[in-house]
Amino acid sequence: MALAEFWSSFRSQKVNNAMDTSDHGSPRPERFRHDWQRHEIEALLTLPLNDLLFQAQGVHRQYFDPNAVQISTLLSIKTGACPEDCKYCPQSGHYNTGLEREKLMQVEAVLEEARRAKEVGASRFCMGAAWKNPRAKDMPYVLEMVRGVRAMGLETCMTLGMLTRDQAEALEEAGLDYYNHNLDTSPEYYGEIITTRTYADRLETLDHVRQSGMKICSGGILGMGESINDRAGLLQQLANLPTHPESVPINMLIRIQGTPLEHVEDLDPIDFIRTIATARILMPASHVRMAAGRELMSDETQALAFFAGANSIFYGERLLTAQNPQAAHDKRLFERLGLYPEQRHDVDDATHEAVLNDRIRQARVTAMTTDAAGHVAG
Ligand code: SF4
Repeated sequence: MALAEFWSSFRSQKVNNAMDTSDHGSPRPERFRHDWQRHEIEALLTLPLNDLLFQAQGVHRQYFDPNAVQISTLLSIKTGACPEDCKYCPQSGHYNTGLEREKLMQVEAVLEEARRAKEVGASRFCMGAAWKNPRAKDMPYVLEMVRGVRAMGLETCMTLGMLTRDQAEALEEAGLDYYNHNLDTSPEYYGEIITTRTYADRLETLDHVRQSGMKICSGGILGMGESINDRAGLLQQLANLPTHPESVPINMLIRIQGTPLEHVEDLDPIDFIRTIATARILMPASHVRMAAGRELMSDETQALAFFAGANSIFYGERLLTAQNPQAAHDKRLFERLGLYPEQRHDVDDATHEAVLNDRIRQARVTAMTTDAAGHVAG
């Protein structure tokens, strides 16, 4: 897509989008595009990098404070022995990765970890269990964890595998803000990575989550041997959901010894940046998260990812079972880049609407002045 074409379609989209959803308010009808074609997304992914970054940064500034980054902490509440066969995952019971399996943690131990996470600046506490789906006997404990973490003033997120509609509703009633359920890759490549469940299963759980009123965290993994078309396919699925996921984690494969993807070729970090930037353009008001694999990236790659529109990270010592950069290093990086943690926005709808209106007004003024200076037309 030519630059001029892009900006003109984006501007008309913006004018119509004055009141779209965001992380901070109640969901409201969304009028972003949900009809992205695969070839349009591939065209974005393969733009000259400077053009792509320029577009992504422009979109990012219309919806977010460009220097604020949302910080989440992730705790594995039940580790290993998962019956699914995700070829990238050390927690799958199908592979011998030497990972020590652990039972579901005690509720009080989880709450203690949440307290520590809050102390180091996390605004969201994510809890992950290596299950195909939660069993009925586990649900009371899981719900208790949600209530306890919520009572601390942290946002809550869980990833427990597939959910029934009833389970999704129970989690929502307990106060779960987000449910994480990744699509991983394109529908076409999915069968190369996972055989124990289908893409349709994933989409069904996402639908239960959305219908229950919870927010969706859903993204994928790069570097699993997929093509550019597959990356476009993943983004197409996410962007064409009836409402964009509020959080979109983009993971870079961590190759784990003993998994089938142990020897897959390295991902070019520039391709990671391209995917972040394209996700930002397609889902303008979603938080795009640099998730697993961040510890493999240089500070410079991370800086470029923030410029491309990433505005969420995991922070702390562990990202499920993979090593995550230490909190102190992240803090230094934030200082070097002039970034700061995004604050939780506990505001009523009217205030939120006023803030959004103000942003839209400013964006229009900026668009008009950049047009006048001839800086954006392609
Ligand atoms: S990614 Fe999740 S579902 Fe797949 S094997 Fe790992 S823990 Fe199980």
